[in-house]
Amino acid sequence: MIAARITNLTDCVGELAGFCFQCGKAMRRSVPPGDDHERWNCSACGYVRYENPTVVVLVAVEAEGRLLVIRRALEPYKARWAVPGGFVERDESVTLAAVRELEEETGIRVEEDDLIPLFIASVVSTNQIYVTFRTHLKTCATLHLGIEASDGAWYTREDFPRDEFWLPALLPAVDDFFDCVAAGHFKLYVSDWSETSMHNRAFDFNV
Ligand SMILES: [Zn+2]
Repeated sequence: MIAARITNLTDCVGELAGFCFQCGKAMRRSVPPGDDHERWNCSACGYVRYENPTVVVLVAVEAEGRLLVIRRALEPYKARWAVPGGFVERDESVTLAAVRELEEETGIRVEEDDLIPLFIASVVSTNQIYVTFRTHLKTCATLHLGIEASDGAWYTREDFPRDEFWLPALLPAVDDFFDCVAAGHFKLYVSDWSETSMHNRAFDFNV
């Protein structure tokens, strides 16, 4: 899943009802004592509802010069092709989340040590941080799709479904990835992503 979402029930209750989930009194939007940001907080018990970014993991799986993508079965971006991934759960590391999401969506099982950092991207518009890993398989494995994918395929640069890619702003990153695969030389990117743009700072990083 790649949409903004409310991360737990207590946040949901607090936001919709405007009441403190700890003491039930009305929440207000103000700068809490000792803070420098406006936040929903409770004047009765002092509870502060932080709205920090949620963390999403993606896995760019490459085999035989092809990149694995799935066609999303669910909104948002239903029927669009995307890189496998999803939200990091509570009590889960980013690498374990990546292993889990990849297996759930494609049936492909990799180990945490197989995952190499590729992108650390801020998506301010959706209040998310995307951590993207890459991994290499020797052959294009048969896929066993989960409920979040209606199709899955291994694409070369030439036949990549560019017109149906879920975030067209990231297509230059796809091209760059194929370049790196061909060259056998990779980079680590620190990025800002949005629906319409991508700004990268690249660091030479070869594993
Ligand atoms: Zn309270």
